[in-house]
Amino acid sequence: MGIEIRQITKTFHQFTALKEVSLTIPDGQLVALLGPSGCGKTTLLRIVAGLEVANSGSILFHGEDATFQQVRERRVGFVFQHYALFRHLTVFENVAFGLRVRPRSQRPSKEIIKSKVNELLKLIQMQELADRYPRQLSGGQRQRVALARALAVEPKVLLLDEPFGALDTKVRKELRRWLRRLHETMHITSLFVTHDQEEAMEVADLVVVMNEGQVEQVGTPDDIYENPASPFVYQFIGHVNLFHGRLQTGNVRIGDLDITLDSHTEVHQAPVVAYVRPHELEISRESESTSIAVTVNSIHLLGPMVHLELLPQNSTEVLEAELTKEYYRQLRLQKGDKVFVKPRKMRLFMGGK
Ligand code: ADP
Ligand code: MG
Repeated sequence: MGIEIRQITKTFHQFTALKEVSLTIPDGQLVALLGPSGCGKTTLLRIVAGLEVANSGSILFHGEDATFQQVRERRVGFVFQHYALFRHLTVFENVAFGLRVRPRSQRPSKEIIKSKVNELLKLIQMQELADRYPRQLSGGQRQRVALARALAVEPKVLLLDEPFGALDTKVRKELRRWLRRLHETMHITSLFVTHDQEEAMEVADLVVVMNEGQVEQVGTPDDIYENPASPFVYQFIGHVNLFHGRLQTGNVRIGDLDITLDSHTEVHQAPVVAYVRPHELEISRESESTSIAVTVNSIHLLGPMVHLELLPQNSTEVLEAELTKEYYRQLRLQKGDKVFVKPRKMRLFMGGK
């Protein structure tokens, strides 16, 4: 079931938490809402769930207006950051809970509940731990139980609000891969809130980048990384080097450097900022007319890649570059070496100094 969010605005007293947010969550996809803390992710999720009422705008579930539907009618499943498992119930009973509390007329028989819960425990790989209590589980196991509990009532939509946020890095990474695989077997339309860009990029079909109550960009993880639509997205997703310069007809002037642009511009003499990813900086021992002289300030070896901090002449603004270990060895780089860099690719945004 697809979800359509149309022009949702939400204010808390004088503060506007969401400004006319419109968004389509395609049927069966796992969509990440990504943005810094306070940008409105949870508020939007709560409005989709029916836990919060918007000032204006509407929510459609599968083409049907759900704006005024009750939480229960919307058939959504939730998983939050802080495992809200029932402490006094076993894993089995926690998962069975949503089915047991149904009105008698809709409640499945004991046998059906049992087989259904067992099936879910199998899905989350916790059959052996069915009789344990939450305190006897690790954080990652508890979140898996929380997910199984949400799935037990067969929601049409799954809403996850930083579900792995309280876990340590290693467990978080394992769980997001696990969630991705689970999604591929179930295909429940899911909205996954996170402030962690790596998590969003790895788990989601589509990433929605939010900032200050608005949607900045919607795209596949690759699209968001390769073609950020705004300076905000550029800086929020991964590292980026900024070069302040001036746009002239057909070229950009950055310091003493003239870079010819592929496309002709009509703009004369406007300030621009060039955004260049660390891996888009080409490093060379030889100087070229379009390269910048830099000093290697530090070298960090990280797996197959090498991160460099480079200090340009006449500047205190450190540049970050990334290269393969192979090329790094070929260059025989050492701290303090003087080398040359030039952008292999860059993206210009108007403005700046
Ligand atoms: P996120 O989940 O992206 O961190 P939230 O949606 O929780 O952000 O909050 C967005 C903004 O709205 C924040 O500035 C927050 O302080 C504010 N806010 C959220 N809920 C309330 C509330 N119930 N009352 C007042 N302000 C709120
Ligand atoms: Mg939040």
